[in-house]
Amino acid sequence: PARTRFAPSPTGFLHLGSLRTALFNYLIAKVTGGQFLLRIEDTDQKRTIDGAEERLYQDLEWAGIEWDEGPKKGGPYGPYKQSERTALYREAAEALLNYGHAYRCFCSPQRLHTLAEYRSRLGQPPDYDRTCAHIHKDESDDRASKGEAHVIRLKVPETYPDYRDLIYGLVNQKKPSNQASVIGSFDDPILIKTDGFPTYHLANVVDDHMMEITHVIRGSEWMSSTPKHLALYEAFGWQPPEFAHVSLLVDKDRRKLSKRTGSIEIADFREKGVFPETLCNFVALLGWSHNNKYDLMSMRELIASVGRAENENFSYYQSIQSPEKKSRNVEQLLKADAQNYTTPTEFIDRNIYFFSAPTKEILKENKPALKLHKVPPSVKTTVDVAVFREALKGFEDMGLKVWNEPAFIKTLTTSTYVKFAQRGITDDEDPDWMIRAKSEKSWCALIHSFLRWALVAGMPGPDSSFTMCLLGREETLKRLELAIE
Ligand code: GLU
Repeated sequence: PARTRFAPSPTGFLHLGSLRTALFNYLIAKVTGGQFLLRIEDTDQKRTIDGAEERLYQDLEWAGIEWDEGPKKGGPYGPYKQSERTALYREAAEALLNYGHAYRCFCSPQRLHTLAEYRSRLGQPPDYDRTCAHIHKDESDDRASKGEAHVIRLKVPETYPDYRDLIYGLVNQKKPSNQASVIGSFDDPILIKTDGFPTYHLANVVDDHMMEITHVIRGSEWMSSTPKHLALYEAFGWQPPEFAHVSLLVDKDRRKLSKRTGSIEIADFREKGVFPETLCNFVALLGWSHNNKYDLMSMRELIASVGRAENENFSYYQSIQSPEKKSRNVEQLLKADAQNYTTPTEFIDRNIYFFSAPTKEILKENKPALKLHKVPPSVKTTVDVAVFREALKGFEDMGLKVWNEPAFIKTLTTSTYVKFAQRGITDDEDPDWMIRAKSEKSWCALIHSFLRWALVAGMPGPDSSFTMCLLGREETLKRLELAIE
């Protein structure tokens, strides 16, 4: 059984890439009958964003990624927030100092800056020159006890060992630039910062060890840290976990998807009504097995897959079954309108009036010009209300026991037409009008657009017969009454 962890920093929100990493960790733990841990890596207090931690919990819970151990839940290896574990990291760093695997560095920021500038002019990485590694332990202890500002650095080995990544295979480490030529250049990472807080490297390794993590599954952006981590395991004399680095998701400019690209945040998908199952399926299918170190996902592939996710979304929606008539209706509506939405919110927006009747104000705002060619002004803007009401009454009088929309439409169409004719509207004003109106097509069109307005405020959607069928007899009559009031 694997013990895996997702170790986000509350410096941003969960996005597609990090959801995918969390999901892989979760799945590996579940598949092997192990545990999935959540650990909050909040040691970089300056970059912490207000509310990010809470949102992380919410987003993960929404996605259905439940942690076995972690904040809010507890567990035998807690606390699971690094800011509550600082004493442990200090102890670990002290141990390394005592073994001679780490040393205090008293160099001022100015000196380090000058050094880095010098190196950059030579086109070198901003490595350290190990000046402070030569300070005797007693002197170092003495200066520290007097409160002199310092950091603690790891003394990295001459060479980093190669290691086998579960996804990338054998990784040949770039040799550390350790060289003692003109001016020494050493890759000695800081473990404890001047403020006494640990860096990511130290806290991450100490916790993975103490929490007995067996598999570290993380984004490939951390791959360059892995040799340092392996050096730390070596220095502590600990057995390192397995590493699996998952490829990055990139945008169309092949830049890493990150917090800066707002639209990929999980909360946005949630607000759009995308189902967590869909999103998880989607990210899980984004290239799990890659051998090529630089096989990054392009946006084109991403978009193609998003289309797939959206399709899956509504097939999932459509597969929801319920014995209730209401949900049968919703299901029918979902099917009838399937071409026109991709998310539940879009669906609701399009079909809002199936769920609540349009108010009088809304009807007023959306009153259509019910046009027939060259109809007289009295008919042009409205279907004669009195006539319509009579027609409705006539319909009720007919005592149709079973709601049956074709019959209703037919009755409405013929009886309103007959009533119009009886009232003798306008033969003399426009003799042709009656002839045109008599042609079933145009009269039906007029009635249908009136119905569409009365029933759903003229919103586009399924045709009015289908709409009436879904609304049912009572609701339909209620809405028609309201419309002709
Ligand atoms: N705190 C790191 C992050 O925010 C964790 C990296 C790792 O999993 O080791 O992604």
